[in-house]
Amino acid sequence: MVKAIVGANWGDEGKGKITDMLAREADIIVRFQGGSNAGHTIINEYGKFALHLLPSGVFYKHTTNVIGNGVALNIPYLMKEIQSLAERGVPMPKIKISDRTQILMPYHILFDQYEEERLGGKSFGSTKAGIAPFYSDKYAKIGFQVSELFDTEGLKNKIAGICEMKNVILEHLYHKPAINPDELFHTLMEYRSMVEPYLCDVSALLQDAIKEGRNILFEGQLGSLKDPDFGIYPMVTSSSTLAAYSAIGAGIPPYEIKNIVAVVKAYSSAVGAGEFVTEIFGDEADELRKRGGDAGEFGATTGRPRRMGWFDAVASRYGCRMQGATEAALTVLDVLGYLDAIPVCVGYEIDGVVSKNFPVTVKLKKAKPVYEYLPGWKQDIRGIKSYNDLPKDCRNYIEFIEKELQVPITLVSNGPGRDEIIRRN
Ligand code: GDP
Repeated sequence: MVKAIVGANWGDEGKGKITDMLAREADIIVRFQGGSNAGHTIINEYGKFALHLLPSGVFYKHTTNVIGNGVALNIPYLMKEIQSLAERGVPMPKIKISDRTQILMPYHILFDQYEEERLGGKSFGSTKAGIAPFYSDKYAKIGFQVSELFDTEGLKNKIAGICEMKNVILEHLYHKPAINPDELFHTLMEYRSMVEPYLCDVSALLQDAIKEGRNILFEGQLGSLKDPDFGIYPMVTSSSTLAAYSAIGAGIPPYEIKNIVAVVKAYSSAVGAGEFVTEIFGDEADELRKRGGDAGEFGATTGRPRRMGWFDAVASRYGCRMQGATEAALTVLDVLGYLDAIPVCVGYEIDGVVSKNFPVTVKLKKAKPVYEYLPGWKQDIRGIKSYNDLPKDCRNYIEFIEKELQVPITLVSNGPGRDEIIRRN
């Protein structure tokens, strides 16, 4: 059975925790898009980890962890991440990397920095991990597949051609040092020896696993609203964050994805710039951020303070719909226990008209939230294990959100730990 776990919001919904938890029942965990530009926070018996490139199944001995062809593969970064697990006593996980994955080159990171510098205040708030330059090159057909590392003659020629072009931009647009083709070749040869032990034909591996009836878990990064097509363009990421893309980013038939779990946060948060209709500011935001602790304060990768807001049913329903969610996991509900009344955005007012549909970015800029206020439960719900033991007003909040999402909420997360989860049937 193939299952995907994806974000319905702006990212940081707590997908890492849900994936880590569901990975217990999985044979294979797969990353299919993005790179080291976002992270998953996982808390388990080994401690607290922020994973950026490794799939969230790496803590289990029985799982195979796969990096699909859709990922932006920063090879030295991945090696460091593997090493950091070993240093903290985690047994060496089984890792497979698609031989069709493209390499995030050292110059992608530089170009990302230089472009942010050039744009100054008008920048996209990039994480400077090289992700946008990487995907630009991939689709401009000047990227490097890991398989190309094994054709040294072809590689040398390709490097020469690409340096010629990149160096013009470096010199004349950014006024920065040129790339030396010999040094780049040498770096890539180092990358080759690092990555070689992990390479395989991932789509063949996965399609065989499907035939054998294995449980495969696809793990998305960020969320629906950061998708380049369906998100808040241009303040989006550079690869698709949707479950549908897992078929392409790892090489399986789309109809094999039977179950799509959209992770939905019980309030809103976002890292980086972009439209955010229910954003709150000042003391109200500081309080929620503080209560959110790790879940509220800083992005797992960027360390940037998160922007905070109330639950946005318009954006979350759209987020679930674009994911094709068959079920939803509601996370960080425990954080809201301090509020007397909890605002929930049930509509957007745009030019005097209230709508429940999530619009294109130019209209979104004008949207004002229409709130309904639900009674708070004024209680710490951490430690509660069964749904019926939750306070009535808390269940009411969950069921209200479920109705708005139009997707069954099957999991409720009431704390950051692996076991802090309530299953609902
Ligand atoms: P991801 O990118 O979607 O995996 O999200 P992150 O892991 O970056 O951010 C989620 C943060 O919330 C992490 O610090 C988690 O430990 C924390 N977290 C996840 N679920 C819960 C929850 O139910 N309650 C609380 N308090 N924190 C949670």
